[in-house]
Amino acid sequence: MLLFFANIHVLDGRLMYIDKKRLYLKKKMKTRVRFAPSPTGPLHIGGLRTALFNYLFAKKKAGVFVLRIEDTDQNRSVEGSEDYIQEALEWCGMNPDEGPKNGGEFGPYRQSERKNIYADHIQTLIKKGAAYYAFDKAERLNEERKEAEKKGETFKYGHQNRLQFKNSLTLTEKETTEALKKEFVIRLKVESNQTVIVKDLIRGVVRVKTDTLDDKILMKSDGMPTYHFANVVDDHLMEITCVIRGEEWLPSLPIHKLIYTAFGWETPEFMHLPLILKTVGKGKLSKRDGDKDGYPVFPLKWGKETPGFREMGFLASGMVNYLALLGWNEGIEKEVYSLKELEKAFNTKGVQKGGARFDYEKAKWINQQQLQKMSVEEIYSVSRVKELLSPFEENKHLSLIRLVKERLNILDDIKDELTFIESTYPYDEKVIEKINDKNPKAVLEQIKKTLIEEDDVDLFQEQIISWSKKNEVSMGILMQSFRLALVGKLTGPDIFKVCSVLGKEVSLKRINKLIEHLNFKQIL
Ligand code: GLU
Repeated sequence: MLLFFANIHVLDGRLMYIDKKRLYLKKKMKTRVRFAPSPTGPLHIGGLRTALFNYLFAKKKAGVFVLRIEDTDQNRSVEGSEDYIQEALEWCGMNPDEGPKNGGEFGPYRQSERKNIYADHIQTLIKKGAAYYAFDKAERLNEERKEAEKKGETFKYGHQNRLQFKNSLTLTEKETTEALKKEFVIRLKVESNQTVIVKDLIRGVVRVKTDTLDDKILMKSDGMPTYHFANVVDDHLMEITCVIRGEEWLPSLPIHKLIYTAFGWETPEFMHLPLILKTVGKGKLSKRDGDKDGYPVFPLKWGKETPGFREMGFLASGMVNYLALLGWNEGIEKEVYSLKELEKAFNTKGVQKGGARFDYEKAKWINQQQLQKMSVEEIYSVSRVKELLSPFEENKHLSLIRLVKERLNILDDIKDELTFIESTYPYDEKVIEKINDKNPKAVLEQIKKTLIEEDDVDLFQEQIISWSKKNEVSMGILMQSFRLALVGKLTGPDIFKVCSVLGKEVSLKRINKLIEHLNFKQIL
């Protein structure tokens, strides 16, 4: 027992020493992080959140943000995804410092263009005896898999059974050379009975027994590397100092650590981000959740069918701000941040361990907060806003935004908020019944008269209000009649502003129309 503790002590001492050396080296190294998506379709907001945390981490440390496209699985690659990823990052203002679009000294940045690099590096592991060729036919492995399933186990190709299979550990050199002429894969040789120690910046130290791991395939039979191998080789060659990615990759970390160790490479730091959970219930937020409850889970639209946050009327600043809060907080009350503010405020300490629940209402609230910080001109510069305003005369666009700005959560609320510009809603008859015995017609006639005489809206407002006071007409009746005439219902923007945007002519027409309607009701 004593000896056991003594060993731990020695080990800890060495670790401490290594940590100090590492710290010294790290201090001298420039921070480099990467976002490494696979181009398998539109980027989920979880992926965009990973990109954001990488970006913020880099900016905070005056480092470099790399985009690397992990497209080694050609079967899963979907055309258009890479452009989509690039566009989504640009929309959010997170332009990669290095990547397939703008290059960099560590390229190429698409894994499919790095085949030679992997082919060279796998030879290093073969030579070191840390990886080996395996020639087993798929049928044989499937049989083994079925056998294991029957026993309620998961089949693993590893230290416990690798010598029963056809691989370069069991064949002679000559047989191996012969077998290499046909299909083969290359596997990592995971030694048994050891402990892999990995450290995650959020979760601390994780210890994993190698006996629980299998001999993962590093190179596939098509000559392409697997995710594990390409990922580690590239993170090393691209001098990534901290790997920031989703929690779903945490189980891969021991394998990655073993690959680093096999090469004799220093590992970068790791940070695994909490999952983005469904609004209610268990599990990760999925596209199905969004479809069911009417919100997008992608930043931009994908094809014609799948909307994105941008097309739903979110600002990039709203999207970025909300995503930052999904798993991070500064530890103060503040929730509304610009990207620039986030770049300063972001810290690893604020990243939470537990999953972050997605809340569309909160996302809209954040977007609304961002909208209110913008000037009318800034809002008008957003292309979505121009689209939304296209049915209206261009010279009215700015005043229309001014009119409804305060009422907007997302940009697309503009559509609903401005419906009355074309024509009034059907009159709210309940309101008419309520005010009918208070002589709304007289009020409307007075509004009409004042409006005809007065061109200045502010003066018109003043005059009509002082008239109502003098004649003891309640403000309620005045406003309700006026609003009913111009809008048709009681909700909407400031009614004097509505009047000004509609213009004198249209406003007078609408007032007359309501008077006629009231007359008609009286006859009935
Ligand atoms: N290509 C992986 C993905 O699609 C990246 C995982 C990582 O960042 O290591 O998410």
